[in-house]
Amino acid sequence: MNNSQLSALDILQNIFGYQNFRGQQADIIEHVVTGNNALVLMPTGGGKSLCYQIPAIIRPGVAIIISPLIALMQDQVTALQQYGVRAAYLNSSLTLEQARSVSNQLRQGELDLLYIAPERLMTTRFLEFLDTANIALFAIDEAHCLSQWGHDFRPEYTQLSVLAQRFPQIPRIALTATADEPTRNDIIKHLALEQAEVFITSFDRPNICYYVVQKDNGRRQLLNFLETEGHKGDAGIVYCLSRKRVEAVAAWLNKQGWLALPYHAGLDNNIRANNQNRFLREEGIIIVATIAFGMGIDKSNVRFVAHLDLPKSLEAYYQETGRAGRDGLPANAWMAYGLQDVIMLRRFLDSSEAHEQQKRIERHKLDSMLGYCEMSSCRRQVLLNYFGENLAKACGNCDTCLEPVATFDGTEVAQKALSCIYRTGQRFGVNYLIDVLLGRNNDRIIKLGHTNISTFGIGKELKEGEWRSVFRQLIAMNFANVDVEGFGSVELTDNSRSVLRGEMRLNLRKDIATKKTSKKDNKTKTFQTDKILWEKLRSKRLELAKAQDVPPYVIFHDSTLEEMVSKRPSSLKEFSLLSGVGKSKLERYAQAFIDILNEHPLSSTTSDSAAISIDAFQQGQSIEEIAEERALKASTIYQHLSEGIEARQIELADVIKLTEEEIKEIKDNLLELPTEEQHTLKPVFDAFDGEYSYEILKCVRANLWR
Ligand code: ADP
Ligand code: ZN
Repeated sequence: MNNSQLSALDILQNIFGYQNFRGQQADIIEHVVTGNNALVLMPTGGGKSLCYQIPAIIRPGVAIIISPLIALMQDQVTALQQYGVRAAYLNSSLTLEQARSVSNQLRQGELDLLYIAPERLMTTRFLEFLDTANIALFAIDEAHCLSQWGHDFRPEYTQLSVLAQRFPQIPRIALTATADEPTRNDIIKHLALEQAEVFITSFDRPNICYYVVQKDNGRRQLLNFLETEGHKGDAGIVYCLSRKRVEAVAAWLNKQGWLALPYHAGLDNNIRANNQNRFLREEGIIIVATIAFGMGIDKSNVRFVAHLDLPKSLEAYYQETGRAGRDGLPANAWMAYGLQDVIMLRRFLDSSEAHEQQKRIERHKLDSMLGYCEMSSCRRQVLLNYFGENLAKACGNCDTCLEPVATFDGTEVAQKALSCIYRTGQRFGVNYLIDVLLGRNNDRIIKLGHTNISTFGIGKELKEGEWRSVFRQLIAMNFANVDVEGFGSVELTDNSRSVLRGEMRLNLRKDIATKKTSKKDNKTKTFQTDKILWEKLRSKRLELAKAQDVPPYVIFHDSTLEEMVSKRPSSLKEFSLLSGVGKSKLERYAQAFIDILNEHPLSSTTSDSAAISIDAFQQGQSIEEIAEERALKASTIYQHLSEGIEARQIELADVIKLTEEEIKEIKDNLLELPTEEQHTLKPVFDAFDGEYSYEILKCVRANLWR
C-alpha cells in the first residue's frame, strides 16, 4: 500500500479502528512524521505505541523499534499483524530460518516496522545493513532502560548513542513511562535529544482505584478484597517479596478456589514461561509473582494488582500498579502493609553494601513510600505530587476519598511510646514495649525490672492493636527507628526529641480494625449486567485467539466487547463503529460476533441491576440519589430507567422533563433513521447539536420502542 497518501487520522480510524487521538498523540505523530526528534513521557496505558507506529506506517521505509524484551516485541508484532500492519521482529527466539525470512522481507522493503533488541541492532552486520536501507525512523521504547538511575537498567541501551552519530538525519523518538529528572536527562544525553521536543502527558491513571489496608492477616485480607470487589474470573497480579511467599500464596489461593500461578526467578525456565503464557492467553488467571514479573506484560485487561508486601519505592509501586487497567476500564490497586514490612525494608537497606549516597537515595524513596501508606488525604494527590504533578481536587476514586480516615491528636500517646523506648534503654522490640505500656506483669518484664519504670502501665487508654499502629506510624515517619543489627529493637531518632519536648504536635491515623467493606457497588462493571452474553463473546474471542495462538486481547480488547454488549451492533456497518475495530479486524472477526449478538436478543424482561434502580425510582428516589447510593454513574441509572420505560414499568414523563413538542421532535428524528441505525443515537444527538444528552435520547427512544 502507498501509505504516504493517508493522513494520520485515516490510519487511526481505518486500521486501528479508533475515532479520535488521545491527548498529545496527534501532535507527537505530526512532529515525527515531519522528521523531527521527540521524547515522549506518558504513563502506562497512555497510548505510546501509536506515537511511533503511525509515523512508521506513513513515512517511507522501515521503522526500527528498539525494545528490551522478547515478550514485548512478540506482543506488539502480534497485535500489529492483527491490524493488518506489516511488522516483524528479530531476536534470539527465532530459528535461523525464521530470522532469514525476516531479513529477506526487510531487504525487499516489505516491512513497515521491525522490532529489534539493542544488542542485535549493534552488530556490525546490522549497522552496515542500515547504512544502505531506507529507514523511516528509530523508536526507542522503554527508553528509561538506558539510565542507571532507573530500575531496569540495560547496559546495551547505552550504546544507542551510535544512532545519533551514524544516522543523524533519521528521526529518533524515545518513549518511556518513567519520568523522573535524572532518568530523563540520561535519555536526552545518550540519544542526543537536546534539541528534541519533549512531550509530557499527565501520569494520572484515573480508572485505577487505590487501596492500602493495615495488614493483620494478609492472605485473608486479600481474599476479602477479591471477593468484595467481585474479581472472580478477572485477570490479576499479586506481588510478594520472596519466592517462598509467592509459592505459598499461589497454593493457598488455589485452595480457596481461585486460579493462581506462581512466577519467580527460581522456577524452572519452562514452567515460568508457561505460566506467563497462560496468564497472557487465558482468561481469569491470577499471577502471584516477585517483582521480577511485569516488564513487557502488555496484557490490557488486568483488573487488579495486589501487593502483599511493601514495594521499595513509589516508582516501583506506581509502575507495578500501572499494569492494571491499561484498557481504561475500572481496575483496582490494593496493598496490605504493616509494621513488619517497614522493619524488613529498613533492615535490607541498612545492611546493604551500597555506597552511602546510594543508601541515602534509597532511604528517601522508602520514606516516601511509607508516607504514602500513612496518608489520611487523597492518595492520588500524593502519588501525582511525587511525580511532579498537581491534582487540584481530591480524586474520589481511592480508599481515603471513598471512606475518609479518622485522625486524632496523637502527640500524647507518641510521647508515651517514645519515652517508653527511652526508659527501657532502646533495646527492645515493639511487642515488649507495648507490654510495658499496658502494664503487663510478665516474667520477662519483672526480671528486667521494668515494672518500676515511669512508663510501666501508662498506656492503658489504647488497646494492643492501637499501640501497634502508633509505633508503625512513628517508625514510618522517622520519629523512631528499628536497629540495624536485626534484633528489631526500636531506637529514638534525631526527630524524636521535638515530639518528646512537646515542640510539635502529631496527627495520627485512627486505624479501623474492623473489616472494611467496599463502598463501591460490585456492579460498577455495568457491562457485566448481561453476563451470559458477555461470557459468550469472551469465549468466542478465546476460540479465535487459540486458533491463531495469540493472546485474546489482541483480537479485541475488553472495552470493545463491552461496547458490543451495550450497543448491540447488528450489521457490519454498525460493528465498524465500535472502538478498536479497524478494517482488518472487521473483515476477519465481525461476522462471528454479530452472529452471537443476533442469537442473543435483547431480553424483554429487565436485568436485575435495572430492576433495583427502577424500584428505587418508583419509591420516589431521584436519579442522583440512586446513583450515589449504588455507586453507579447517573448515566447507568438512566440506562436502567430507559429499560423500565420500554418495559412499561415507568412513564417517560416521570423521568425527563420535556414538552410534548420536544419529545415529538426527537421521535421524528429517530424515525427518520433506518431501524437498525436507531441503536446508535449519535445522528440524533448531532442533529440537535448536543442539546439533548444521550441519557434523554435513550429514554425517548425507549418510549418509542415500547
Ligand atoms: P502504552 O504503551 O503507553 O502503555 P499502549 O500504546 O499499549 O500504551 O496503549 C494502551 C491502550 O490504549 C491500547 O489498548 C491501545 O489500543 C489503546 N489506545 C491507544 N490510543 C488510542 C486512541 N487514540 N483511542 C482509543 N484507544 C487507544
Ligand atoms: Zn483520592
